[in-house]
Amino acid sequence: MSKRDYYEVLGVSKGASKEEIKKAYRKLSKKYHPDINKESGADEQFKEVKEAYEVLSDDQKRSHYDQFGHTDPNQGFGGGSDFNGFGGFEDIFNSFFGGGGQRRRDPNAPRQGADLQYTMTLGFDEAVFGKETDIEIPKEEQCDTCDGSGAKPGTKAETCKHCHGSGQLNIEQNTPFGRIVNRRVCHYCNGTGKEIKHKCSTCSGTGTVKKRRKIHVKIPAGVDDGQQLRVSGQGEPGINGGPSGDLYIVFHIREHEFFERDGDDIYCEMPLTFVQAALGDEVEVPTLHGRVKLKIPAGTQTGTKFRLKGKGVPNVRGYGIGDQHIIIRIVTPTKLTEKQKQLLRDYAEVSGQVPHGEQEDGFFSKVKRAFKGE
Ligand SMILES: [Zn+2]
Ligand SMILES: [Zn+2]
Repeated sequence: MSKRDYYEVLGVSKGASKEEIKKAYRKLSKKYHPDINKESGADEQFKEVKEAYEVLSDDQKRSHYDQFGHTDPNQGFGGGSDFNGFGGFEDIFNSFFGGGGQRRRDPNAPRQGADLQYTMTLGFDEAVFGKETDIEIPKEEQCDTCDGSGAKPGTKAETCKHCHGSGQLNIEQNTPFGRIVNRRVCHYCNGTGKEIKHKCSTCSGTGTVKKRRKIHVKIPAGVDDGQQLRVSGQGEPGINGGPSGDLYIVFHIREHEFFERDGDDIYCEMPLTFVQAALGDEVEVPTLHGRVKLKIPAGTQTGTKFRLKGKGVPNVRGYGIGDQHIIIRIVTPTKLTEKQKQLLRDYAEVSGQVPHGEQEDGFFSKVKRAFKGE
C-alpha cells in the first residue's frame, strides 16, 4: 500500500505553520494514544501520526519531504513495470491517494486534485550527475469548451433534483432493530449534486479532458534507486477550484557494469596480478569522475581496500560527495608457459618452500592436523 501523505495524516495544509502542525499533532496523538484509545488500529494510526510529525516538525526533513516525498525504499515501484524510456503510458501511471476526497460530505467543497506517479528509468551515470529532461504525462485538464461545467455552451448545469445538490441520498430501511437511515452517494448525479441536461460534446459532461502535457524536469545529481521527486502542482487539477495534485517521479536506476553503489559511496573490485601485489605498482583506476592513479604498495593482500576520497556520488541533498572504495583481488594465473612455471618453481625454491612435497611445520600442517582431529 502506498504511504499516506504526511500532511494528510496530520490533516493540515501544505503551507501549515509550525504551530498548526504542533497543534494537529497534539490533538491526534492524544486521540490515538495506545493508553487512551483501545480500538484496533489505533496504535498503527498513532505511529503514523508520530512519524508524520517527526518529519514535518523538522525544517530540514520537511523540505526534503516536500521535494522528494516518501523515500522509503520498501515502497518499490508497484506493478513491476519493466519499461525503458517513456513509452507504455497507461501502465506507468497510477492515480493514487486522490487528495483525501472520499470522506468529505459537501460535493461543492474545493478538493485537491489527485497525485500522479511516474516511474523513470535512469542510467547509472545519469543518476549520479543528474540531468534535465522533458517528460510527457497524461493529465486531466479542465475542458475549454464548457469551462469545466460539463454543460453545453449556452446551457447550465442544474441542481440535481434527487439529492437537491447535496450529492448524497438518505436511504431509509426498516430492520428488526428499527428504522435505519443510510447516507449514500447520489447515483443520479454521481455525488456532484448537479444534473446536466445538455452535455458538453467535447468532454461528454465530465468537465475535464485528457491531454498530454510536456513537463521539463530537473533531476538533481545523486538520486538513488527507489527515491521519489515531488513536482509540486503537476498532478491532476483540483475540483471545485481546489489546488492541483502533485506529480511524483519514482526513479529506477540501472546497474553499472563494474561499479556498485551504496548510498553516496561507490565500490569496485580491482584485479591485480600476484607480481603487482608483491612488488607494488602504480595503476590507473576508473572512477565516475575519470581515471585516477593509485599506488599499490608492495605486499598488498587480496581484499585490501583503498579509498578514493570524493570520487563517489554527490549527495542528493547537497551534503558533499561520497567516496570510491577499491577492493583488491589478486588473480592467480591459470595459463602458464613452461618458462613461467620454471620461474615459479625457482621462486619457491629460493623462498624455502617445497612445491610438491609435504611441509612439516607451519600453517598448512596445522590446518591438516585440525582436519584429522589430532
Ligand atoms: Zn444527486
Ligand atoms: Zn466540456
